[in-house]
Amino acid sequence: LREKVATARHLPVETLDGIHIQLQLNVGMSIEHDWLTELNVQGVGLYRTEIPFMMRERLPTEDEQVELYTQVLDQFSPHPVVMRTLDVGGDKPLPYLPMKEENPFLGWRGIRMTLDHPEIFLVQIRAMLRASVGRNNLRILLPMITNAEEVDESARMVKQAYHEVAEEYQCGVDESLFQPQLGVMIEVPAMIYQLHAVADKVDFFSVGTNDLTQYMLAVDRNNQRVAGLYDAYHPAVLHALQQIAERCRELNKPVSVCGELAGEPGGALLLAAMGYRTLSMNSYNIDRIRWIIRHVESQQLERILAAALASRSPQQVRQIITMELEKLG
Ligand code: PEP
Ligand code: MG
Repeated sequence: LREKVATARHLPVETLDGIHIQLQLNVGMSIEHDWLTELNVQGVGLYRTEIPFMMRERLPTEDEQVELYTQVLDQFSPHPVVMRTLDVGGDKPLPYLPMKEENPFLGWRGIRMTLDHPEIFLVQIRAMLRASVGRNNLRILLPMITNAEEVDESARMVKQAYHEVAEEYQCGVDESLFQPQLGVMIEVPAMIYQLHAVADKVDFFSVGTNDLTQYMLAVDRNNQRVAGLYDAYHPAVLHALQQIAERCRELNKPVSVCGELAGEPGGALLLAAMGYRTLSMNSYNIDRIRWIIRHVESQQLERILAAALASRSPQQVRQIITMELEKLG
C-alpha cells in the first residue's frame, strides 16, 4: 500500500467527486528541504522560523536570515511560502533570551514577545522582504494573535520594513518588491470571535489546531499527566473549527489549517468536510493524505462530519473515523 500511496504523487488531490484540496508543507529546518519538491505540493503553508533561531547560540543576523529565507522562497517558487514570524516562548525558549515564567503558555509568547522587541521583529521582517526582492511568493503569518491591536501594530511594522527595503533596493512600487500578503494564526480561542474585527486588515487566516486545542480545553499540550485530555477530536474543538470555516466563508477570507490535525487521516477528512480547501502538514503525511482524499466523496465526508459533530466525546469521534477509514482500506 505504501508504494501505491507514493506513486499517486503526480495525481491531483481531489475527492472522487472532484473537490480539490491544496496540500502544503510545514517546514522548519533547512536541512529538510532538498527532496521536498518531489512531493508535488502547493508550497509551504507554515515555515516555523523559530527553529533556525533555536538552533543557534545567538540571534541570527539580518544577512544570515536573508540567506535562509531566500533558500526556502527559491525552492518552492512559484508556489507561496508562508513564513511565520518568530514564535518563541511557551514550549520554545531561546537559549540566549531567558524567559522565566510561572505559566509560559499563557505568557510572553509569539507576537507578544516580538512586539515588545521591535528590533528583533523588524530585522526579521526586513530579512524576509529582502529575501523576496525579485520573487513574489512570500506570505507573512503572525502567531498567537489575541486582538486587533496586535494585528495593527504588526501591519505597521511590516509596512515600515517594506518602505525601508524598497528604498534601499530602489524598487518599491515596481514589480521587484511585492507587498507580501499578511495573515493571522487562529490559535487563541478569542480570535474565533474576532474574525470580523481583523478580516479587513489581513489577506488570509491559518488555523493552528495544536494551540487552539490546548487553549480551548485548558490542557497543556506537553504535560504527560493530562495528555489523555488533550485531543483535537474533542467535539468542542470540532465545532470551533466548523465555525471558523463558516465565518471565513462569509467574510470571503482564505483560510487554511496548519496544525497537526490537518496531517492526520481523520482530521483531514473532517476539515475537508467543513470546507477547508488548504491543508498544511509535515512532509511524511503528504502521501497518505493525498491518497485518502482521492478515495472519498463529499457525501461520505458530510456523513462523517455530521456524526462527529453530534458526538459526546473525542473517543466517540475517533470510533466513527476508524470505522470510516476501515471502509477505505
Ligand atoms: C499550532 O499551534 O497548531 C501550530 C501550527 O503552531 P505550533 O505547533 O508551532 O505552535
Ligand atoms: Mg501554535
